[in-house]
Parts: sequence; structure tokens; C-alpha cells
Amino acid sequence: MRWIEERGPGLHGTFPTDEVRSQQSLVGLILSRISANDACILWTGGKSKPGYGTVIVGRRVSPKTGRKRGITRLAHRVVWELLHGALPHGRCLDHTCTNKSCVNVLHLEVVSSPENVRRGHERATHCKNGHPYGPYIPGGKRVCPECKAVNVAAGYVRHLEANRTRSREYARANRERIKAKRAESPEFWRQYSRDYYQKNRESILAKIAARTAAKKTAKSQRPQQQETT
Ligand SMILES: [Zn+2]
Ligand SMILES: [Zn+2]
Repeated sequence: MRWIEERGPGLHGTFPTDEVRSQQSLVGLILSRISANDACILWTGGKSKPGYGTVIVGRRVSPKTGRKRGITRLAHRVVWELLHGALPHGRCLDHTCTNKSCVNVLHLEVVSSPENVRRGHERATHCKNGHPYGPYIPGGKRVCPECKAVNVAAGYVRHLEANRTRSREYARANRERIKAKRAESPEFWRQYSRDYYQKNRESILAKIAARTAAKKTAKSQRPQQQETT
């Protein structure tokens, strides 16, 4: 692990072939990308998807395209490492101010990864779809019952669809065999179809009606869509 410390802040996972910014240039870049409010030091540069500040600490040649690409690192982590040295392996920096774009080292606390996750659960007030959570039970995980029910239902539908696709594929691959088998006893299969229809009459008719209705609405909507676009 020593080579990481030798290579400077924020350079985890860089390789000897990479070009990395000098510490002086890195500090200059960071100073030009921050703005202080009352207590937090906010990152005004690029941000990651969840909202953490990001900084380009160097460049590397992409093995796929052969072109040079930036090495992006989390800004708060780079700032912390500039002051304290490399963050020990497996440790996280927790924003005690809960402001993701803050890079004030006084608002960062070194915690283990499970502790960081636990704090996230404790602080969460709403799920990502905006349903409010109840009070936090220590040691517990945040689960949204509303979203969970939707996901379970969606998983069940996916499961049904996968089964249907599998049997369709089987029928397509073994068409001749199935045909031959049916030809062995035609009267049995004729009766089988009749029985199936009698048993599932309502669902079959409903399916046909739904399909015709869907076709009709698709037809009637087509010209309207052209107008709007
Ligand atoms: Zn802060
Ligand atoms: Zn929810």
C-alpha cells in the first residue's frame, strides 16, 4: 500500500503509466472550485451522480479507445487526503453536515463502511420515491413498504413472463416433435382443446377483447401523436 501514499492524495488505483497532477496544481485547482458559506465549504466544480464533488487528479490512456481520459476522484476525499495523508483501506468519510457537496474537512469523519451505511439509514427520512419513513429503529435498515410491494409485484410479473417465454421457445424449437405427438392421438387433443376452452372460457374471451381494444386505441392514437410531435 505504500506506493499510494507516495503518489499523493486521491490517487488510489492509478498506474505507473498514468499522468498525475502535481500537488501544487491540485491545490490550485481545488481552491478555484470552492465557495464557502456559513460553515460548509461547497464544491462548485463537477459532481458525481449522487451529488458528491469530483475532481480530475490526472489523465490516463484508455485501454479500449487509446485516448486520454481524466482520472476522476471524490473531491472531499482528495481534500481530506491532502491534509491527513491516504485514507486507510476500507474506511469512508462521513459528511456529518449531511451536505454531499461540502469539502470542509471539519465536517468529515473517518468511519468504517458498515457504520457509514448505518448512518445513512438513520438519517434517511424519505425513500427515493418520496414516501416518508417512520421512526428509526437502532440497528435496523430502512425499507419502504410501499415501494417494496410494487417491486415484489413487478418481480412476480417478470417471473410469469420469463416462464411464458421459456415455454414459447420450447414450442418453437420442438415444433415437429409436438406435431408428431399430437398426430398420434388427434381425438385426445381435440377433446383437450375443447375442455381447455370450457374451463378458461371467460379469461380467453377477456384476453381477445383486451387485445382488440388495445389495437383500436393504438389506431386512434396514432394520428394524434403525429400532430403533437
Ligand atoms: Zn459541511
Ligand atoms: Zn417508497
